[in-house]
Amino acid sequence: MSNTTLPRRIAVLGATGSIGSSALDVIARNPDRLRPALLAAGSNVDGLLALCRTHAPDHAVIADQSAYARLRDGLREAGLATQPHAGDPALVQLVASEACDTVVAAIVGAAGLTSTMAAANAGKRLLLANKESLVLAGELLTAAARAAGSRIIPIDSEHNAIFQCLPAADARSGLRRIVLTASGGPFRGRRRSQLCDVTPAQAVAHPKWSMGAKISVDSATLMNKGLEVIEAHHLFDLPGDRIDVLVHPQSLVHSMVEFIDGSTLAQLGLPDMRTALAVGFAWPQRIESGVKGLDLAASGRLDFEPPDLDAFPCLSLAYGALATGGTAPAVLNAANEIAVAAFLQGRIDFLRIAELVEDTLAAIPAVAADSLDALLDADARSRLHADSIISSDRARGFRRQPDGSRAA
Ligand code: NAD
Ligand code: MG
Repeated sequence: MSNTTLPRRIAVLGATGSIGSSALDVIARNPDRLRPALLAAGSNVDGLLALCRTHAPDHAVIADQSAYARLRDGLREAGLATQPHAGDPALVQLVASEACDTVVAAIVGAAGLTSTMAAANAGKRLLLANKESLVLAGELLTAAARAAGSRIIPIDSEHNAIFQCLPAADARSGLRRIVLTASGGPFRGRRRSQLCDVTPAQAVAHPKWSMGAKISVDSATLMNKGLEVIEAHHLFDLPGDRIDVLVHPQSLVHSMVEFIDGSTLAQLGLPDMRTALAVGFAWPQRIESGVKGLDLAASGRLDFEPPDLDAFPCLSLAYGALATGGTAPAVLNAANEIAVAAFLQGRIDFLRIAELVEDTLAAIPAVAADSLDALLDADARSRLHADSIISSDRARGFRRQPDGSRAA
């Protein structure tokens, strides 16, 4: 931070979400170093206006064009100088402009790709929470960041942990593997047959982390860990067989790196994303995040167990897509987004999420992921395919049997 002009001008994309609110909390604790310059949200214009009243950014962007007038009028009524904007193209332009030097990419899903890519292309410090953009277009995104001198700091507790444990590029030569920890989600310990009738409300009730609905369901299926394996592959340039997953229900050890000499380094802390965000804002310095230190004597045991791939096949599907390569991870991600949205709307059951992803991967053969167009085409085809299976399921009236199988 020493050779950067302070305060940093921060763009918070996905400001009304879980990561967005944690980012704004850390920013507000460090007013001499961090300033909220741009806040962006999807369609929650009231939430965005409330944040503008508190944080008085220079710019506010709502993705939903039809909400522009409400944003503009609300800012005017509040007597704020914040400039209103609407639509993804406006966001992309602002992210690339002098309006900010640091971008918190915390939009959920592939919808975050264009703005995340714009931040990388413009050489911004990129606090990357939007893991779906890495899964979808990891090679292109990391190459763009390298070419433009954009520093990517992962805002995922596991990858942020590995980032902290692997500071020196030359330490990589002695790296044997990384171990991503997983809480196991709300259904840890259940067998497949015990997952037939779990509800969206149960799936989003995460035992350790408070997060948005989509990532909470991903945690319940273990697809979140699968996306994180692919994310780690791109961030740390490792093949899938050197990225392991270990279930750790206390969520205090956020991940580990193991070296060829037998040494393992871990990063620990309370499950609160403000730590990762503070690391992202200040690295290599440290700033206050509002998160307390660990009291290991009070927290007691640290347990570890292997993931149950039979009950939670999404993790294996993600390893498979990474091994296949090309557009397969994009297809996996898009089918999962459609399936999770349908599950949250009560249109499919929990076990159908993994089945839909598997069917879609089988139906859409992977091709080389050498251009953004190829990836976006795979993403679109995957969404159409997953949607069409959901519609035909409903037309045919499939029912889940108590053992987890399906029958008409
Ligand atoms: P969330 O649902 O709480 O918030 C999502 C944000 O994205 C909201 O501000 C919403 O307005 C915005 N948004 C949605 N669609 C948009 C669009 N089309 N254009 C612009 N903005 C749009 O989600 P979250 O839990 O904060 O997660 C955000 C991202 O961070 C996800 O990619 C998630 O995987 C990742 N992440 C989250 C956590 C966590 O603890 N919440 C941890 C690690 C990674
Ligand atoms: Mg994570």
